Amino acid sequence: MSEKNFYLTTPIYYVNDIPHIGHAYTTIAADVMCRHMRMRGDNVFFLTGTDEHGQKIQQSAEAKGMTAQELADKTMLNFRNLWTVLGISNDDFIRTTEERHERVVQSMFQKLMDQGDIYKGSYEGWYCVPCETYVPESSMGENRTCPDCGRPLVQMQEESYFFRASKYADRLLAYYEANPQAILPRSRYNEIVSFLRSGVRDQSISRTTLKWGIPVPGDDKHVVYVWFDALINYATACGYLDDREKFAKFWPAVRHLVGKDIIRFHCVIWPIMLLALGLNPPVCVFAHGWWTVEGEKMSKSKGNVVDPFEMARVYGVDPFRYFLLREVPFGLDGDFSELAMVQRVNSDLANDLGNLLNRTLQMMGNYRDGKVPAPGAILPVDEEVLSLIDATLATVKEKLDVFSFDEALKSIWALLGRGNKYIDETMPWKLGREGNGERLDTVLSTLFAVLRAVTLLTAPFMPDAAKRMYVQLGFSGDPLDERFPSVALRNAPAGQMTQKGDVLFPRIDVDQWKKGREAKLSGKDGAQVPDAKIPSEHEDEISIDLFKSVELRVAEVIGVEEIPKAKKLYALYLDLGYEKRKIVSGIKEFFTPQDLIGKRIIVVANLKPATLCGVESRGMLLAAGPKDKSALGLLTVDESAPLGSRVS
Ligand SMILES: [Zn+2]
Repeated sequence: MSEKNFYLTTPIYYVNDIPHIGHAYTTIAADVMCRHMRMRGDNVFFLTGTDEHGQKIQQSAEAKGMTAQELADKTMLNFRNLWTVLGISNDDFIRTTEERHERVVQSMFQKLMDQGDIYKGSYEGWYCVPCETYVPESSMGENRTCPDCGRPLVQMQEESYFFRASKYADRLLAYYEANPQAILPRSRYNEIVSFLRSGVRDQSISRTTLKWGIPVPGDDKHVVYVWFDALINYATACGYLDDREKFAKFWPAVRHLVGKDIIRFHCVIWPIMLLALGLNPPVCVFAHGWWTVEGEKMSKSKGNVVDPFEMARVYGVDPFRYFLLREVPFGLDGDFSELAMVQRVNSDLANDLGNLLNRTLQMMGNYRDGKVPAPGAILPVDEEVLSLIDATLATVKEKLDVFSFDEALKSIWALLGRGNKYIDETMPWKLGREGNGERLDTVLSTLFAVLRAVTLLTAPFMPDAAKRMYVQLGFSGDPLDERFPSVALRNAPAGQMTQKGDVLFPRIDVDQWKKGREAKLSGKDGAQVPDAKIPSEHEDEISIDLFKSVELRVAEVIGVEEIPKAKKLYALYLDLGYEKRKIVSGIKEFFTPQDLIGKRIIVVANLKPATLCGVESRGMLLAAGPKDKSALGLLTVDESAPLGSRVS
């Protein structure tokens, strides 16, 4: 089989945004896809990153008294940290303020100018002077007012460079007519084709009113307009200027995942830029839908923005990943409801998946001391289940080829359902009681094969849970390192020792959950009142001044590192707002790096530096737990306490 290349991108996210469920959705989808393609043996290049230029960044930075670059450096971490927490396996992370990118933007601009596809003209539009921004007709307020500040807009005209997009519209239309799979789903394809048929205008691609951007080559008065700059990131990271070999390998296989709001940029402007540069347009642009939250549009003012950090913390990363991709067909809009997530955890994960694993390993333990038996004669019912394994692999591949994540998961769950039914049909406990050893061997071996297939097929969706399942099935290593072409899914490795482990997905008690949620929504955290009395064990009284001499401050954990040979220690990177620093803390037994990243904790900031296991620690964090050190809780604080603020 010849090697295949696969290049997938998420949009680059605007650093002025707070990461929400929409960002998490696109990036998780891309991650699942890339992990799956790696398991199919493809060479995969997976890119995400941040969009850092433009008016809004410049203005927010000014308001905060920092430079635009400083602001971007800081807020970019919100995304990077989220990808760490959500287990995203991107190969590169591009920032549009990087030098490697600025060079590519200027080089492409220059090339298009040299060949006559960029010309100087004049741009006219409605402009908000205080906001220093043009407002398109479609987003104006009543009586031509600014949607941001409400003040009246004025007609403005400025010199601008234009990209001759009109010249290439017919060629792009012909490309789409020959490649209907190049835009998915079909409804978006139709939308773009009819848009192209109505004609494309030349595009203004520079501004003189804006400073925070990439200078136009040879004309410092202008900066390149943000979207022209941003789209080019996909070519930069692929090695357009710096690694021609990589570019030749991956560019012909480029696919973009985008939200439906930005498809005109990705399906019209960007492919036209590529055609003008003599490059192939994307193999596919997939536009996914939007999420509402509990039936309502998500918005900051409603306060219903779903925080992916919180969802991952409360429900676990794997259930969150699973839910987003299972609940709604990828191209359609969906509604995010926590109750629906709880129900999926219970029915799909705890019941369907958890039960098959537990029942099988339990029987393997009871009847065969945990060892996978060699199968005896294969009856039609066994053959039916075994062929379903092969069929499921084929279906999952076919569905993921068109980004149909929910359909792929449904087919895996159909296999799980068949496995659970097979237990009821074959009644292994009866075979055990009757001493029908050969038949029992076949049944257990078949069930093992189903579980291994399910583990491998779900691994891209739930990397951590799949790994734990794999260990319970007696494999060492990571299921994601397996390659479908070389795994004989139907054959269970006879003699392999299984080891029943912890419950993979504990059931959530729905009544308890509802109570906790009501308490949370009404503002009192009723569920958290401790019922045990804390034993009294007081120190001597101290003065308020002595207490005040302890400088307690709010810090965010932005990175966690293991320290070689230190079993109990982590090195934590903290952001105190005014500075970043490293502390060493003996909390490794209680937390994974994912538990810690993104948390706002309390640190003693004026503790004398100390060196632990060769690492200098500047401060300590606060935590509490029982005397026997069997558990530990971190002191955390919500986001209304800014980084670096004093605790008093
Ligand atoms: Zn305004």
